[in-house]
Parts: sequence; structure tokens; C-alpha cells
Amino acid sequence: MKCYYCNKEAIEEAYGKAYCEEHFIKYFLGKVRSVIDKFNIRGKIAVALSGGKDSSACFHALNKFKFDLLPFHINLGIKYYSNKCQVEAEKLCNLLGYDLEVIYLEEYGIDLEKYEKPCSICGTAKRYLMNKFAYENNCKYVATGHNLSDVVTFAMNNVITGNILNFRGNKPFLEENLEYKLVAKVKPIYYLKDKECMLYAMINELPYAEEECPHAENAPTLRLKRWLHEMETEMPGMLLNMARSFWRIEEKIREEVNLNKCIKCGYASYGKICKFCKLRKKC
Ligand code: SF4
Ligand code: ZN
Ligand code: ZN
Repeated sequence: MKCYYCNKEAIEEAYGKAYCEEHFIKYFLGKVRSVIDKFNIRGKIAVALSGGKDSSACFHALNKFKFDLLPFHINLGIKYYSNKCQVEAEKLCNLLGYDLEVIYLEEYGIDLEKYEKPCSICGTAKRYLMNKFAYENNCKYVATGHNLSDVVTFAMNNVITGNILNFRGNKPFLEENLEYKLVAKVKPIYYLKDKECMLYAMINELPYAEEECPHAENAPTLRLKRWLHEMETEMPGMLLNMARSFWRIEEKIREEVNLNKCIKCGYASYGKICKFCKLRKKC
């Protein structure tokens, strides 16, 4: 198969067009650019690096656009996995000429290894610490490496588990609310699928941890993601349409949400005490 734009051999196909390596990179950066332009992203960005392929690809792409970037990593304290992730995030920063800031979850007294099902605790802690880091470092945004596959899987999981009212994170951009110390959130690789992020990372020889978190091994969301990708192969564009639908639903739901300030830490909360402070109290 030949590239749609030149005569070279194609390495990937997306939405009915085949791409050679050079034009695939252009396609990838164009998708990132479309998020940047649509939401007029300008100013300092705290970039969350998990050590995985998606956030590595996201950081590398943002660096191409010459943003003021502050990369950081949250070490989750999970066996061999967390250290490996930190090492890969450090390698990437060295390669691109940045220092990596590291936040250790254990410094907040939270040990994920104590929990049989740590994922929701991990999610709460990561969301809180990402926002806090960006806020305290005067960043206008926090950028995460959530891609199209992640967004749709997460939303579908909320539907399947009956959590439709807990329906957040479906949009590529979430506005700031500084009264509640909430920094704007952006997902620069929102329009790109798992496979495309992997390909971008491989072409650019980016360091990333290939290991999955040991707690992800039996997660139903992995099966769900595989199933969604199979469906996408049969119906190209399905993931994007689903993401847009979930995005619209979230906009409707968010109109009804009331925010408070946590009486312990002063950051945003839906109740009197935020989930993160409740978590620390239990530990
Ligand atoms: Fe955290 Fe691992 Fe669960 Fe992902 S799979 S949410 S990294 S504990
Ligand atoms: Zn080409
Ligand atoms: Zn709090």
C-alpha cells in the first residue's frame, strides 16, 4: 500500500488514508495541533509523564510546538513497576533537555500495595496531585497522555458499571476554576488511538516502559478496550463518534454539579472534605 500523499510505502492507515512514516508524523502532530488551536492553548503547561508510551508521545509532540513545559512524574510506589516508569520518564526528559520533577505518593502516607483493588484510589490520588502540582507551579494547564482509546474505554466503563453521573474526563479540555484552585486540563492526544501513539513513540525512538502496571493485568477495562478496537476495525470512526457523544453528555451533566472548597486542604471538592483528604485520613 502506498502513502496517500507521496509514493512511499505506507506504514499506517487512518480514516481511509494510508501514511508513510513522514506523513504519519505530520498526521499525528496535526491531530495534536487541532486540540491546541481549538482550545487556544497558550502558556505554561505541566506535563504528566507516567513513563508509558502515551504520555511520552504527548510530551514529545508538545515539545515540537515550543511550549513552556514543566514535566513531572508521580511515583506510585508499586513494586518494580513504578521505578521502571520513573527511569523511562527521566530518560525522556534527558533526551529532550528537561529536568523531571518527581512526586512520591508515599510521602502523602498512601500505600497502594495495601489495597486489593487500588485503581480508584490511584485515580483519585493522581488527579489531585496533578492539579496541585500544576497550581503550585503557576502552570496554566496540566496536560495528560489520555488518548482516544482511553477516553472511550473509561466512559464505556462508567456506562457499564452504572456510574453515569460520575461522568468526567470525556472532553479534550476542561476549563480552569481558580477560585477552587482548579487548573485547566488538556488532553493533547485526545484524537489519537493507542496504536497510533505506540507508532509515534517507536518512530521517534522515545523511551517508555513497556510493562503494564501489575494491577492492570486482570482489569476488565483492558478487555473492554480490546473489544472497542475490534469494533473500530469493523467500523472506522466509531471511537471518535463515541468520544464526541460522551463529550456532549458530560457537558449536560456538568451544568448541574456544585463545587465546594475542601475544609482540610482548600482544593476543589464535591463534599465538605475532598476525596484525597479522606483517603489520607484512612491511611
Ligand atoms: Fe493505578 Fe495501576 Fe490501577 Fe493504573 S492499573 S490505576 S497505575 S493501580
Ligand atoms: Zn508519504
Ligand atoms: Zn482536601
